[in-house]
Amino acid sequence: MSSLVFLDPAYPAGRLADITAPQLLVTAQGVTRGDGIFESMLYTNQAVRKFEAHLARLATSAEVADLIIPDARSWFAAVDTAVADFDATGGAEEAVVKLVAARGEHDSDPAICWVTVTPAPALGKEQRETGVDVLLLDRGYDSKLAERAPWLMMGAKTLSYSINMAALRYARKHGAHDVIFTSADGIILEAPTSTVLVAQRDGETKRLLTPMLETGILPGTTQSAIFDAAAQDGWELGYGPLRPEDLYQADGVFLVSSIRLLTPVRTIDAKPLRLDAELHEQLSALSDAIR
Ligand code: PLP
Repeated sequence: MSSLVFLDPAYPAGRLADITAPQLLVTAQGVTRGDGIFESMLYTNQAVRKFEAHLARLATSAEVADLIIPDARSWFAAVDTAVADFDATGGAEEAVVKLVAARGEHDSDPAICWVTVTPAPALGKEQRETGVDVLLLDRGYDSKLAERAPWLMMGAKTLSYSINMAALRYARKHGAHDVIFTSADGIILEAPTSTVLVAQRDGETKRLLTPMLETGILPGTTQSAIFDAAAQDGWELGYGPLRPEDLYQADGVFLVSSIRLLTPVRTIDAKPLRLDAELHEQLSALSDAIR
């Protein structure tokens, strides 16, 4: 079973609601315009991973989107209520805790905020083991756009994911599992629901690279946690710009995200990639240890 809790000033611990019943006004701008923000977190072993990092990103997204959202204490309380209900009704080994803040009917309305807990999709877990085949797809803008056009809210985690989902469907129709977006000027950006990591081995040196945030990609909480752990473990770290040839020449290319964790990329545009087994094992251990 899945659980739903609304953040509601009249209910300090959050208001439990029926996830199978209609709950939102059809006139809310969160619905009619996809105007809102969200976070997806992994709940496993009785704990939500990287909760503070997700709340910090939610707060940044709220600021960028001019949404007034409840304080961290209200989110913690609502999530506690939601996961307790989820566990009491069967639970799951891995679950997705989603935080959503959607704009109401009028701009001056407080955001409509809720938490859902649902079992994590089995496919993500499977792909962690098997790896994924990826297409490089043009995102249609250049890598400097985010700096020129702050009103585009790039780098905020907004509800408007229809392009990301369409790109994934396109990949599936063309025999792949996932997508890595490139900018119009040929720079590697991100995947529709994950961050790109590149591992390189250079003699004794292990290096981990990721695209730079200035391209307008979402600052990944998983990438950040893996970078922190890798630095402790003696890896060199670096930030793009990365180009397709950097992926083809890498000793491992990975998609990382809170729910699917570390997923190796097997092929890009049907060309096989190298995957250094030892680097893969070390990165998987770092990713599994994230709390
Ligand atoms: N990039 C995009 C576009 C995403 O949607 C996500 C997660 O959903 C990520 C990157 C990875 O972010 P995180 O590691 O915080 O889950």
